[in-house]
Amino acid sequence: MANYDYDLFTIGAGSGGVRASRVAAAHGAKVAVAEEYRVGGTCVIRGCVPKKMLVYGAHFAEDLQDAKAFGWTTEGATFDWITLRDNVLKEVDRLNGLYGQTLGNHGVEIIQQRATVTGPNEVTLADGTKKTARYILIAVGARPHVPSCPGNELGITSNEAFHLDAVPKRILIAGAGYIANEFAGIFNEFGAKVTLINRSDQLLRGYDESMRDRLLQISTMKGIQFRFNAEFRGISKNEDGSLTVSMTNHDDMEVDCVMFATGRLPNTEGLGLDTVGVELGKRGEIKVDAYSRTNVESIYAVGDVTDRVQLTPVAIREGQAFADTVFGNKPTIVDYSCVPSAVFSHPPIAGVGMTEGEARNQLGSVKVYQSDFRPMKNVLAGRNERSLYKIICEGDANERIVGIHMIGPEAPEIMQAAAIAVKAGLTKADFDATVAIHPTMSEELVLMR
Ligand code: NDP
Repeated sequence: MANYDYDLFTIGAGSGGVRASRVAAAHGAKVAVAEEYRVGGTCVIRGCVPKKMLVYGAHFAEDLQDAKAFGWTTEGATFDWITLRDNVLKEVDRLNGLYGQTLGNHGVEIIQQRATVTGPNEVTLADGTKKTARYILIAVGARPHVPSCPGNELGITSNEAFHLDAVPKRILIAGAGYIANEFAGIFNEFGAKVTLINRSDQLLRGYDESMRDRLLQISTMKGIQFRFNAEFRGISKNEDGSLTVSMTNHDDMEVDCVMFATGRLPNTEGLGLDTVGVELGKRGEIKVDAYSRTNVESIYAVGDVTDRVQLTPVAIREGQAFADTVFGNKPTIVDYSCVPSAVFSHPPIAGVGMTEGEARNQLGSVKVYQSDFRPMKNVLAGRNERSLYKIICEGDANERIVGIHMIGPEAPEIMQAAAIAVKAGLTKADFDATVAIHPTMSEELVLMR
């Protein structure tokens, strides 16, 4: 057998790459992982984790407002962005260190350099060193897509949002997906005037329509402005430092910051994949089979770079399945059915399984149960924000649940448990047979008639 430097060389130490490397090492493989930036990847360094901490920070704005109705005096409370920003970045540093330690504890060698593929079993580091491996795993993730238009270099992406020196007074966010709606909520709570523009006439494509409508209604009520059918035309800088944005179908707009949240593209550019003939898809994503193997036998890919489901827990599962398959003698395929997801907007949305539209298209006959209610806390606070829960069942007498969708406080926390029931194929009768916990919001799930 050929003699290689490593059994596995992973490129990219994000969620997928770290899990795969750690588990492969635990299975006895000699592993190295190359990372050009920071161990932890998008989720830990400039995505899910710091974003969630900003969401927590933003929520205090509403809590302080609501607190008055509960007898608290909150006058004089102020917000300091720099304190929050620096605390979040400090926590990111801590997690970055922990991820490095975990890899080290498992005997994985971390190489802090960019690596490119130069052969089916060979990578070349930025300093020119060549390394060989029996298997190469590409786990380089994705990067923000920035539409090509004049002045696009004047805008930021979510990468930079965590490092701003101040909350912009007026921010325009391009896109209406996960990132756009999450940051719209964050900046709005911090007092920015937020406008979200999108090329199509809807937000959060792929989510249940009723949830999207409710988010649009609540966000508008909170002061976030939306412009639809607005394709980006360009940005220009004014003398006073402000930016003028032009778009189709709408007037120009003057703002202080423009943020692009228009999807994420697989990071395959300049990785050398063409030199070894790894097949890519239309968006530049690496094509893989059910075991995450590319068309080149020794090269695998997991996570966002494969553009299957761009979610951290999915990348982690793909990394684990890869390591178990290749090094653990346990061929494993990731099950992509019923992947729950959430948008940490204000309020958050969460969903699992089919949307009502998908269910009607795919199943024909469906039964939909819905609860539209004002959470107790909102009632006392005088906050006119209603939650909406929806259960979608097959239309026969069995009423197997095929989808659950929610918008309202803590929806993602509630959804994680509800998703188990949908994944397990439970029926509406199973929910009905479960006694409610009173008074909670989640009890609505077992009280729908
Ligand atoms: P999304 O795919 O959620 O949304 C992209 C938005 O950008 C859509 O509104 C889309 O419009 C618009 N858009 C796409 N391409 C263009 C273009 N060429 N020009 C103008 N507008 C465009 O992407 P995000 O960037 O918000 O997030 C990327 C991914 O990261 C998500 O898909 C998700 O998987 C993951 N993510 C998950 C989070 C979570 O789990 N909470 C949080 C953040 C990100 P239209 O709909 O009209 O096509």
